[in-house]
Amino acid sequence: MVYNASGTLTERLLFTLIPPHCLLCQAAVNRERQLDLCAGCERDLPRIDWPCPRCGLALTESEYSLTCGACLKNPPAWNRCSSAVAYAEPVNRLVLQWKQRGHSPAGRVFTRLLARQLAMQVIPMDRPDAILPVPQHWQRHWRRGFNPAASIARQLGRELGLPVLGRQLQRVQATPAQQGLTARQRRRNLKGAFTVSGTLPAHVALVDDVVTTGSTASEICRLLKKHGVERVDVWCLARTPKQHG
Ligand SMILES: [Zn+2]
Ligand SMILES: [Zn+2]
Repeated sequence: MVYNASGTLTERLLFTLIPPHCLLCQAAVNRERQLDLCAGCERDLPRIDWPCPRCGLALTESEYSLTCGACLKNPPAWNRCSSAVAYAEPVNRLVLQWKQRGHSPAGRVFTRLLARQLAMQVIPMDRPDAILPVPQHWQRHWRRGFNPAASIARQLGRELGLPVLGRQLQRVQATPAQQGLTARQRRRNLKGAFTVSGTLPAHVALVDDVVTTGSTASEICRLLKKHGVERVDVWCLARTPKQHG
């Protein structure tokens, strides 16, 4: 639980009753931080250095603020990708625990880091009209008990003052796990997996917990743009760094 003096009633109550502790090293954390993460552990988190604004993958310092060569040649379906941290140790372990068990504070801690980063770097220039969480199929929802992307979207909506559209985008097919598949197999897997209903604003932010190859986000972006959305930004807690070799 992230303790936030301006959060929900439960958060405010816990903020008053229980002293916050760091998610990683368990040290007591100053309440002023409003984050269950100490300054040292926050500094040591894996990050994507100098990200390409388009795909969110690392560039070198001298290339920073430029679009990478891969995006120039083959631009992603979305317009901009922002992540709080890199999907590497210990983030991957913590995010997995949160997704499997739900009660870990990792999701809320990383979402707050993402909200702070977006508030500084993205919202002043590129404020979307609404947030859309990547939906999960009802069978997975039933097994897991919650949709991680939807809980990130709700917290971002509260912290950034943006509306969350939770019903317009639906997952109508349970897609098998994408790990170990080629890009083409992933695309085939996702064909027809999502539907859109109702009207959508011109500029939306699509929210997911982890973006790896981006095949899910790309599929949804193409669908949203077919339904009149002009601009889609992707916001995720963690971006998988480029794999070398
Ligand atoms: Zn710590
Ligand atoms: Zn790029």
